Amino acid sequence: VRHRLEAQRNQEAVTTDGRKITLSANIELVKELPYVKHSGARGVGLYRTEFLLLEGEQIPGEESQTKIYTELARSLAPDPVIIRTLDAGGDKLPVEPLLEPEPNPFLGWRGIRVSLDRPAMFKEQLRAILRASAHGKVSVMFPLISGIMELRRAKDLVKESMDELAARDIPFDENIDIGVMIELPSAAIIADLIAPEVDFFSIGTNDLIQYTVAADRVNYRVADLYRPTHPAVIRLIKRTIDAAVQNGIWTGVCGEMAGDLRLTPLLLGLGVEELSVGPHQVPRVRHAIRALSHAECAAMADEALRTPLSRDTLELTSDLAMRYY
Ligand code: PEP
Ligand code: MG
Repeated sequence: VRHRLEAQRNQEAVTTDGRKITLSANIELVKELPYVKHSGARGVGLYRTEFLLLEGEQIPGEESQTKIYTELARSLAPDPVIIRTLDAGGDKLPVEPLLEPEPNPFLGWRGIRVSLDRPAMFKEQLRAILRASAHGKVSVMFPLISGIMELRRAKDLVKESMDELAARDIPFDENIDIGVMIELPSAAIIADLIAPEVDFFSIGTNDLIQYTVAADRVNYRVADLYRPTHPAVIRLIKRTIDAAVQNGIWTGVCGEMAGDLRLTPLLLGLGVEELSVGPHQVPRVRHAIRALSHAECAAMADEALRTPLSRDTLELTSDLAMRYY
């Protein structure tokens, strides 16, 4: 099966009724690049830069980051790479030891909050991303945006970083796409207010689910509550996509949900345009997309949006997934 799927790597991720889906890969380290190529993914939909912290306590400086991001951009070109700014903190790699441990790390100092509190460090990263954008198709994405103010402050810092590079005569893509992770319920609920200010949305279902149902994504005791098909979760996804469509921008999903083959029909039916999954999952997700009719998925998603129980929605989407499962 594996060889057959790999042989299909040059085929498009398109449904039987002609809806094209961008299928890209999530990576954490540059050394995963060969796997991305081998999978036939259309670029990188999520590069988690916090993994740079594995190498030291601090994120590397502008020059080292520029080298890394440029290598990514160059080797993927003309395919795109979406570079997510540091999402340290919470349960993730710490950006610097806090004076006191936080009582609720998932509700604490993580993601864009850290970057906005450390603007000099943030701008080093932004300048490095911008410098790489002169060598390929690079987009920048902010994690854990909860409201408009954070987004505007982050965008102001992008503008400042551009001015600083221009003053140094360093080239960059002035029209670089700027996107946000939709991974907090607050962001999904105001997606209509965020959409006019960005170029794309990428839904981070790992966090979106945990914050929606208040169930820690890594706590096995509450794992049963952590349900991607909870009606609140799928309504938030729908709401996000509707806001994006109305504003002419695209929506992807880069959380684990995107790689769950039982849920591919549901996500396509809700109108997702991009799926970003681990490189090893790309061939199977492509195979799933090619077996599905978008019209059928959309009808099923409509029904799912009116279904009270998450397990019934799981059954609805699994029924369509039987075709390739
Ligand atoms: C997510 O939250 O779904 C996501 C993709 O980001 P991370 O898993 O890195 O928090
Ligand atoms: Mg997340």
